[in-house]
Amino acid sequence: MSSGHRLRDQQRPLLEEERKQEEEKEEEGGEEGSSESDARTLWFIPDCCGVVCASFTWLLVLFANFVVTFVLLLPSKSFFHAVLHGVSFNSVAGLALASHLRTMLTDPGAVPRGNATRQHMASLQLKPGQVVSKCSKCCSIKPHRAHHCSICQRCIRRMDHHCPWVNNCVGEKNQRFFVLFTMYISIMSGHALALCGYHFISCIRVQWTECSDFSPPVTILLMIFLCMESLLFLTFTAVMFSTQLHSICNYNTGSRGDVGGRWAGLRSVFGGPPSLLWISPFAGLKLPSFPRKRPRRGGAEFSV
Ligand SMILES: [Zn+2]
Ligand SMILES: [Zn+2]
Repeated sequence: MSSGHRLRDQQRPLLEEERKQEEEKEEEGGEEGSSESDARTLWFIPDCCGVVCASFTWLLVLFANFVVTFVLLLPSKSFFHAVLHGVSFNSVAGLALASHLRTMLTDPGAVPRGNATRQHMASLQLKPGQVVSKCSKCCSIKPHRAHHCSICQRCIRRMDHHCPWVNNCVGEKNQRFFVLFTMYISIMSGHALALCGYHFISCIRVQWTECSDFSPPVTILLMIFLCMESLLFLTFTAVMFSTQLHSICNYNTGSRGDVGGRWAGLRSVFGGPPSLLWISPFAGLKLPSFPRKRPRRGGAEFSV
């Protein structure tokens, strides 16, 4: 603070009492013990509502798989039709669930908690008069475009929103998996709707027993549920997918017609030049390890 740096709080300037507390914290061990962020540690938000919603999402996907496989495809007379659609539908469902897991279990870009210390400020080597933001809730220095999430109780870099369906924030590091999740769910929903329509039309002129292994009321109920679920999710995820892509493409560009800027936005989220890895939820997968003692961090982590 002595060199003229100003720390801008959300509501108020840094008070003298807080400075003293920070100094005490630093004496007790500094930043080494204060940060919980470790890229290799498993990230999971213990939020009841989120866990219920995320589990419900899995149940709905598994329900759709069951109806498509056992009601729509297995009774089919055409082996080729059943195998082609069975393999493609279940593959996309697998990719959707993998994307869901990656979105839920990936650190969305959490800022280390409680890092607004004098020691850390000094390491930033700020110019005199330069202003940085401090989050009053998690006591961290907020990088540009980071926002605090009250459910994750952390500041998240490039936070888009907190999604209970994936029980996590959508931010800098997991946005690509969220985009893939919405894309695969919308493909699945469209595919399920098409299969329902085809099954209905092909069954309307033949005996019921040739068309389904289940009784007529059960088959009709399962198909109605599947159609409603698919319509709802197709609408929801297609809108989400297009708004996510729109915000990514226009993230760094002031002008909307800047094609180079759009590609730059996509590359920054999906990583590297366009390739099949962009649509793989397994890209960059590293198995998490148990938390261990962190090595001392050197240099400035934030570009403020
Ligand atoms: Zn915060
Ligand atoms: Zn959150």
